[in-house]
Amino acid sequence: MTIAQEIKQEDLVAAKAYVDEVYELVKKRNPGESEFHQAVKEIFDSLIPVFAKHPKYKENAILERISEPERIITFRVPWMDDEGKVQVNRGFRVQFNSAIGPYKGGLRFHPSVNASIIKFLGFEQIFKNSLTGQWIGGGKGGSDFDPKGKSDAEVMRFTQSFMTELNKYIGPDEDVPAGDIGVGGREIGFMFGQYKRIRGGYPAGVLTGKGVGYGGSLARTEATGYGCVYFVNEMLQDQGMSFKDSTVVVSGSGNVSIYAIKKAQELGAKVVACSDSNGYIYDKNGIDLKTVVQLKEVERKRIKEYLKAHPHAEYFEGCEGIWTIPCDIALPCATQNEINEESAKILVANGVKAIGEGANMPSTLEAIEVFLNNKVLFGPAKAANAGGVATSALEMVQNSMRLSWTFEEVDAKLHEIMKNIYRNSVRAANEYGYPGNLVVGSNIAGFIRVADAMLAQGVI
Ligand code: GLU
Repeated sequence: MTIAQEIKQEDLVAAKAYVDEVYELVKKRNPGESEFHQAVKEIFDSLIPVFAKHPKYKENAILERISEPERIITFRVPWMDDEGKVQVNRGFRVQFNSAIGPYKGGLRFHPSVNASIIKFLGFEQIFKNSLTGQWIGGGKGGSDFDPKGKSDAEVMRFTQSFMTELNKYIGPDEDVPAGDIGVGGREIGFMFGQYKRIRGGYPAGVLTGKGVGYGGSLARTEATGYGCVYFVNEMLQDQGMSFKDSTVVVSGSGNVSIYAIKKAQELGAKVVACSDSNGYIYDKNGIDLKTVVQLKEVERKRIKEYLKAHPHAEYFEGCEGIWTIPCDIALPCATQNEINEESAKILVANGVKAIGEGANMPSTLEAIEVFLNNKVLFGPAKAANAGGVATSALEMVQNSMRLSWTFEEVDAKLHEIMKNIYRNSVRAANEYGYPGNLVVGSNIAGFIRVADAMLAQGVI
């Protein structure tokens, strides 16, 4: 008998009422924070059968506690631009949950960053990190600073000012930030330098995503994109399908997208499109990744310039249109809510078979509904993009042990972790009566590990 068969109907009804009640409380306590509400709603709805089965979680107010961050830090980040003008940005760090390890999660530098964005990301991170099976809690941070068009010197002055405040709250055993949108190797390098200068010693484990020459892990750069493709590959293989000869659309052209494209191509797929925040390119011959890497990682230019090297390709302004390109597999790797209900319907009408969310929360709740109702294989972000943070945790392990594993060793561990996440999510979905629904499966599997740790640690 599965857990689902043991659950009584009246307990399900009561659990739903309870979950709805706590959700209303979260909305009231965090007014106007729509992204945070959306992330909470997705998790909460998945947990109804868990609350119906296990009264201990309600009795101990796990839901009320898990949706309230342990701590939120906001701070002023003043810095001087190249013209000598003083600029002021806002810095954030949300230390959401430390039940299973030090807070862990990236820093995002993007003009859209506000409390709602950081809280949704931090909340997601709790369950994602739990799914990896490693000892990492959930946190997230960032700033509304826009790195686009800034000189290296401006980025350095900003990140140094940011770390001058943030350093007070982080540490290798306390809170370990990493990158996210707008924060890559350059920014992590500057921030590590400033942290080390202020705090002394060589606290390598305070940040992950460091350069491999000074404590970073091999394969960390590739990990989120590779991990996403490994995860989708598991979903496909379970249904007798594969990446080979499939047509793939990948949104974005940052770190996640680039390595998702690379791995998908290695597995025999033809990736025909990618994008940046201005628009997208369509190359029917298959994207030339070298050109994308040169443009985005070396020259820091717009994706439109791809056409200079490949005049046969096409460029379209705006981002949503990328989902009108017929494909077998779609990998949204750009940003939150980039696939809405309408785009999801177009993808389905064009015969999409699988979605792997490389970005955080790239599909709206309505879009997810469309995919699940149409039996599209759907790899939700918490599971499909967990490879990045999982490899960050492997970087922390190497820093603690003062040794470095080879690329192959780290990649093999990452691959195994992604397979485990897939298996655990499938199992939880089956047990709780939602076969094939990896949204429910990953949310439940991620939740139970954290909730049990919270129970064990008492009311804190
Ligand atoms: N920003 C990434 C994420 O969303 C990575 C976080 C990390 O490595 O700590 O999971």
